Amino acid sequence: MMIRFAILPLLLALNLSMCKKQQAVTDKPQPADSASPGTAAATAAPVAAATPKIKKPVVDQTAQVLIFCYHRLVDKIRYPGTEITPAAFEAQMKELKDKGITVISMQDLLAWKRGEKNIPPRSAVITFDDGWKSQYEVAWPILKKYGYPVTMFIYTEGVRGGTLGGGEAITWEQLADMRDNGVDIQAHSATHQDLREGHNVLVIEGGKRSKKKLTGADYEKWIQNEVVGSKELLEQRLGIKVNCFAVPFGNYNEHVKELARNSGYDAMFTVYGQPITFTSPMDAIGRYAIEANKPKVFADAVSMIGASSGGGTAVAEVGAKDLTTQPADGDTVRTATPLIKANLSSIGQIEPGSVQMRVSGLGLVPANFDPKTGTVSYQVPQKLRDKTCTVIVSAKSEGKKVETHWTFGLEEATAASSPAAAVKK
Ligand SMILES: [Zn+2]
Repeated sequence: MMIRFAILPLLLALNLSMCKKQQAVTDKPQPADSASPGTAAATAAPVAAATPKIKKPVVDQTAQVLIFCYHRLVDKIRYPGTEITPAAFEAQMKELKDKGITVISMQDLLAWKRGEKNIPPRSAVITFDDGWKSQYEVAWPILKKYGYPVTMFIYTEGVRGGTLGGGEAITWEQLADMRDNGVDIQAHSATHQDLREGHNVLVIEGGKRSKKKLTGADYEKWIQNEVVGSKELLEQRLGIKVNCFAVPFGNYNEHVKELARNSGYDAMFTVYGQPITFTSPMDAIGRYAIEANKPKVFADAVSMIGASSGGGTAVAEVGAKDLTTQPADGDTVRTATPLIKANLSSIGQIEPGSVQMRVSGLGLVPANFDPKTGTVSYQVPQKLRDKTCTVIVSAKSEGKKVETHWTFGLEEATAASSPAAAVKK
């Protein structure tokens, strides 16, 4: 404590001088430093001390990015409108490498568009739509071989076990495995239909299907679930932050765009392929759909920007009730910025570097793990937006991966309530 008091004035000065730079980094959660000076210094100072000086890079505004959209990889093509062979896919991945086109992640593309991160002048982003198991079993190993990042656009009812998720569908476990290995998972609606008002749509109510033309309030309720509900489900189920929306069939209008923009999406994607530039609008980012019946699309796209672990790892699930968590599973807290904690000591010896915490709406968070007490903790720095919050904590113990997840409710804080003010239901 003595030391901390002694250096506090210095840190405060540092903190003030760095304020501007910190504000420039918008994607990194920062503690609120606009509150009363006393508390602000106490919470913000350690961050200021630990954060190196971040300069906003000068990004290459002439760079161009090709975004490819794939569906299924099968040896025998039956639906050439959505399939290509694994061999053709691998040849394309190799061609990108041979031609000096750098495959970057979707989040790097978005950071470049925000002017925060530089990318190579000729880049590509690989995306897979709809959630098929061949994407996990066939495409992913090829991508890993090349070290390429990938984004999965998932429609939630099409995941195995959903109303539209048959035997060829990807499973939630496979998606969790991909998430754990750095795959970006994003939204592609709930039921994969034309999102514009006035179309006949398949409505699923209580497990029953019917075709209906939805208008007015019925349509608004439906579209809300397609655009916002699907995002929330992915975030809750996988403990991730979803900020991209691929529009089914690329069919949308201003109303759909507005809804997506207002629900926390940073970018919207269509299937009208074109090289993406620094000024391409964020709500109409075109992707090249690669299909067996249009063999020239890939080559044409590449010419546009010039010449230049397989199986899922077994995860042992630990019930949140066996651990002491804060907030507890099923509780409701009276703050939007809770302190999240779990005591992992009952699991056994935890490998300290292996502990990861994911929070719905935030994704992977920089949680602290104290090996002495076996406690992992994270103070949420900014208000959580949803009424419920799911936490997924994973760690390695004796070479085995263990995972636990729990969900608690958030009641909008009326006053500045302490994070510890958990209210038992
Ligand atoms: Zn699709």
